[in-house]
Amino acid sequence: MMRLTRICVAILVSCSACAAQEQIRLDGVDVRYTGISQPYAESIARVVSAARTLAIENYQFDMPETIYVEVLADPSRKVSLFNDGQDRFSLTVRTEKDLAQPRSSGVFHIYGLCHEVGHLAMYRPIRNHSWLTYAAAEGWAHYLGSRLVDGVYEQLGPDLWPDQYDYLRDGTQRLQSQLDSGAASPMAEAAGRWKEMVELVGDINVAPIFSAWGKAQIDATDPGKALREALQDSDVAQQLTQWFDRAEDSLILKRPKSGFAAETLATDSLSGESIEVAHDDGEQSGKNSSAGGGHAVRFESGPGTPSYLTAVQIHGSRYGRPAAPKEDFRVWLCDEDFKEIVEFQFPYSKFKRGDPKWVTLKTKPTKVPSQFIVCVGFNPTATKGVFVGYDKAGTGNSLRGLPGGGPKGSFELGDWMIRVTLEKASHEAALKGEMAAENVKTQRRTWKDSTGNFTIVAELVGFEDGMVRLKKENGVVISIPLEKLSAEDQEFVQQK
Ligand SMILES: [Zn+2]
Repeated sequence: MMRLTRICVAILVSCSACAAQEQIRLDGVDVRYTGISQPYAESIARVVSAARTLAIENYQFDMPETIYVEVLADPSRKVSLFNDGQDRFSLTVRTEKDLAQPRSSGVFHIYGLCHEVGHLAMYRPIRNHSWLTYAAAEGWAHYLGSRLVDGVYEQLGPDLWPDQYDYLRDGTQRLQSQLDSGAASPMAEAAGRWKEMVELVGDINVAPIFSAWGKAQIDATDPGKALREALQDSDVAQQLTQWFDRAEDSLILKRPKSGFAAETLATDSLSGESIEVAHDDGEQSGKNSSAGGGHAVRFESGPGTPSYLTAVQIHGSRYGRPAAPKEDFRVWLCDEDFKEIVEFQFPYSKFKRGDPKWVTLKTKPTKVPSQFIVCVGFNPTATKGVFVGYDKAGTGNSLRGLPGGGPKGSFELGDWMIRVTLEKASHEAALKGEMAAENVKTQRRTWKDSTGNFTIVAELVGFEDGMVRLKKENGVVISIPLEKLSAEDQEFVQQK
């Protein structure tokens, strides 16, 4: 039996009906609702409470002490259901009609709430899950959510929802028929991969794998390496590795690194004269938070000696709860192909709520190619994020997307208000850099043999006992007797 308490909270919200927010508490759940009737709020509380308990008892997942669910009916909004990755759901409906059974509303609420509990089971242990594909994260919530629906049905029976419906059909039955159809969506297909994994290790052995993955040192260019290693503690490590080999392409996101090396310079080696590069006109005309995506801008560093990125400026404001989330957001310096050169992290607290402001993010001076992209990703949810400003008319330099991952398109509404500060190296530092570059050049040259018929491009790596060792561009090292080389090359070797 579950104990049910209903408390009226004297908070007035500014909705058209000016309705008071009400509250229901059940084991492990706290539902606050506005604009819907009590029976629906109670059913929501029952579903979340039962699904949470099942996630703990049947799977040993780490669940929050209390899951806070906020339900709002607002005719001006769309139907949506989010989680914050920790302990909060937020459900928005236009009117209570959207809470009716799926046949009339088109919305699968019992399944949806179980799906969100599924997300928590994964996101709590794996806080940084940027290496999971969208399909993988949703597929997991779909898989566990479907199983939780079965469990909830077993516990609470067919009368759970105010207008009763056969929600058992929204559980594993539906997942199975999606998998059997042969034309599963990427999300259902990923759910099928997770199903294989769970059947391999058993229900209670998934939580330890997720927590090992959450602790693994992930290299964004190849997350699979660390994830695979983390599977080795399992009793069925060999089968799991084989499963991972099959599933990796659909579940894991690889972020290829740029071939342009991340080179930094000490601040005192800079010239002291910086320039700010901007595409925006300084007037904000709109703002945007990009769920699952990033805000990116193309820049050019101008001619001459290389420039160094010393700061990124963003015009924006934070939304969500008053206290900034205790996490970092990311800024990437990318090459012109949107491949990551280097990633910087900054605390969320850099952005304040309220009026948008320019926020300066200082970076370690990092060399930029002549054309480059700066991208920022806030990993936003319903309860935290940053609105990035944009101006009235775009110059075509603004993009959406994250480095290396997913489809990226241009952003057409205006220019993101994202700027960079660039600085050249001081005269002395630049000279030193040029000399070093010259040395590299002289090591690699075109070698001729004594007949002049045979040439290769290679780098001199050694000369011993009359043999010259040359490293070809493909990395292969060959040895050639000195006297077989042209006179010019023999002289070059002997001068070294
Ligand atoms: Zn989801």
